[in-house]
Amino acid sequence: MVHGHKGVRFQNWARTYGCCPEMYYQPTSVEEVREVLALARQQNKKVKVVGGGHSPSDIACTDGFMIHMGKMNRVLQVDKEKKQVTVEAGILLTDLHPQLDKHGLALSNLGAVSDVTAGGVIGSGTHNTGIKHGILATQVVALTLMTADGAILECSESSNAEVFQAARVHLGCLGVILTITLQCVPQFHLQETTFPSTLKEVLDNLDSHLKKSEYFRFLWFPHSENVSIIYQDHTNKPPSSSASWFWDYAVGFYLLEFLLWTSTFLPCLVGWINRFFFWLLFTRKKENSNLSHKIFTYECRFKQHVQDWAIEKTGEALLELKAMLEAHPKVVAHYPVEVRFTRGDDILLSPCFQRDSCYMNIIMYRPYGKDVPRLDYWLAYETIMKKFGGRPHWAKAHNCTRKDFEKMYPAFPKFCAIREKLDPTGMFLNSYLEKVFY
Ligand SMILES: Cc1cc2nc3c(=O)[nH]c(=O)nc-3n(C[C@H](O)[C@H](O)[C@H](O)COP(=O)(O)OP(=O)(O)OC[C@H]3O[C@@H](n4cnc5c(N)ncnc54)[C@H](O)[C@@H]3O)c2cc1C
Repeated sequence: MVHGHKGVRFQNWARTYGCCPEMYYQPTSVEEVREVLALARQQNKKVKVVGGGHSPSDIACTDGFMIHMGKMNRVLQVDKEKKQVTVEAGILLTDLHPQLDKHGLALSNLGAVSDVTAGGVIGSGTHNTGIKHGILATQVVALTLMTADGAILECSESSNAEVFQAARVHLGCLGVILTITLQCVPQFHLQETTFPSTLKEVLDNLDSHLKKSEYFRFLWFPHSENVSIIYQDHTNKPPSSSASWFWDYAVGFYLLEFLLWTSTFLPCLVGWINRFFFWLLFTRKKENSNLSHKIFTYECRFKQHVQDWAIEKTGEALLELKAMLEAHPKVVAHYPVEVRFTRGDDILLSPCFQRDSCYMNIIMYRPYGKDVPRLDYWLAYETIMKKFGGRPHWAKAHNCTRKDFEKMYPAFPKFCAIREKLDPTGMFLNSYLEKVFY
């Protein structure tokens, strides 16, 4: 029988959102998950599944029952011929990579961190960059879902196809994702080349950059024209690294954190910090190569607040954000604004539904855990993103409600109908999801 714990406090990775679930479960089997759902039905409780707890919002919070999937983390099957792997949804990608390495396989794209679960990254629509590559959920070829009544649905293009179209970006509101089958590719190495540029250059030559590099992204340094371009491409070169403790940690972390903390008393320093650190760390060309998952992911050292919307009009939106900052010198923005590109797809609530997109991620760090005022920046950014028809990243805090999503997503009613059918009592809702659906 499954045992729950009282008194557990859940906090997300950035320690920006947390909750005290009434009961906390760590099931080890499908039967135990079913037991928790049966208890929840009997006692009329809400249920929230949590993966790696990395979402920078309250999407994974609940005061009802929390199911942590960390003990359902096995690789179940590797089909070398089809290059597909079936995993339990609680597996951390960081544990999946070495298993795939052993079989000469890899995921074709990843987000910036791997301490996240397969169930969590697909559920929130996690993405990286590469205009020929979709969000991570597009790598899913099948999944199994336990619905509120304890039934198990096998979903793929050929079985429960409508649920499959919804459940790849599931927001945690359709049931418990038990297993996921991912389409892999042969293992590959990437070469990463980072070099300086300007906002004008990168926007004038966007198509050319997108063609030149399979995984192209760029970082804009607000309060300046500075841009750092990052190309990542297949290579046969042996692993090499330009990492340096002095520049990456002493300067890029300890000194930066201290200066950002100082700027909480003197916000006018932020523009200078952005320009100074660009000059210190981003003005020379750098090259690294390694296995793909070691290049895609990097160490995120700072706790932070973020927003990340998918839009179509990169240049117009970015220039409007820049103009807003110039017109309002009291609004300050930490570096970088990270701009990534993603192929469109057909997943009902994917921010890239039916359109190739550009994600524009803004950030405000929390030096030594201190919250930095960000409301004006956040509101101005959201206004611009809405004006350009943007759709917010599901994992990252936003102020949108059902009315907004109805406008943003042509398939929103279809998703709602599927959700209401699978979870008629709203067992899997929490306050974040109630804003989305009510
Ligand atoms: C440092 C850092 C870097 C990041 N980099 C990127 C990036 O490069 N690109 C990007 O797009 N995002 C990025 N993110 C966001 C991150 O990828 C998402 O928040 C992702 O969902 C985290 O996975 P998780 O396992 O922690 O999910 P959680 O935060 O635990 O959960 C996310 C959602 O999935 C649901 N869920 C999880 N598992 C299941 C399951 N088995 N069944 C049903 N529902 C489930 C939860 O209920 C919740 O609704 C980053 C976040 C951090 C903190």
